[in-house]
Amino acid sequence: MGAFLAKIVAIVNQKGGVGKTTTCVNLVSALHEAGKRVLLCDFDPQANSTSGMGVDKALSQGVYDVLINGADAGENIVRTRYGDVLPSSKALAGAGIEMIGREGREFLLRDALRGVAADYDFVFIDCPPSLELLTLNALCAANTLLVPVQSEYFALEGLSDLMNTVRIVRRSLNPSLSLEGVLLTMYDGRTNLALQVAEEVKRYFPGKVYSTVIPRNVRLSEAPSHGKPINVYDRTSRGAEAYGAFASEFLKQNS
Ligand code: ADP
Ligand code: MG
Repeated sequence: MGAFLAKIVAIVNQKGGVGKTTTCVNLVSALHEAGKRVLLCDFDPQANSTSGMGVDKALSQGVYDVLINGADAGENIVRTRYGDVLPSSKALAGAGIEMIGREGREFLLRDALRGVAADYDFVFIDCPPSLELLTLNALCAANTLLVPVQSEYFALEGLSDLMNTVRIVRRSLNPSLSLEGVLLTMYDGRTNLALQVAEEVKRYFPGKVYSTVIPRNVRLSEAPSHGKPINVYDRTSRGAEAYGAFASEFLKQNS
């Protein structure tokens, strides 16, 4: 392992239910299958991507312990058949408050990931649905952000707040933070609404919207309860095909 460091990508959108966790788990698993060294850092106290990767979220405090108690990130990483996971746990919900008095509180995650970044090609951070201190830590640790947008009414709502936050972070805390891309999720190409939303999102983020879109697919919503990513749960499903195509597009952009 040389001086090469992983690209760290934060998967962010302060809206809940837009497909952050689904994208994180399935992109990580597809990249792992493609032979990339990947780490999923679950940074949401709900720990849905932890369990989605088949890791028992009650087993350890994972990223909370690393952030708050200075535990070693490497020692807390769980190796799965779908890629490595730095798990989350309910304890993380209290971390925002516990960080308040700390010096350099915005950089706790960045500093924690430093020790393991050389072991990976990509690290993905699954963010909670807010723009508070946890997400701020993710934006300070990341090189780029990937924004899943649900192809629904009000898709753009809140994105100006997100991009404002990104501008502030760039100005003061992480000048090199850039936009990796915007992914349309739960897309139903048969409806005018989805087409309209796609147009609007492309106008708002010119040149940044992936050509791959993720359709609504029930297999994607079933897979987490089996603790398996979609490429393992049902690899012939439309959802698996879409996330496979997305992983290829992502890799092409990063080659
Ligand atoms: P977030 O992490 O942004 O809150 P999730 O990835 O957890 O969003 O998705 C919210 C819900 O929608 C979950 O129940 C998930 O299984 C489901 N879901 C996500 N993407 C799809 C999709 N493309 N098709 C069908 N269901 C989906
Ligand atoms: Mg989530």
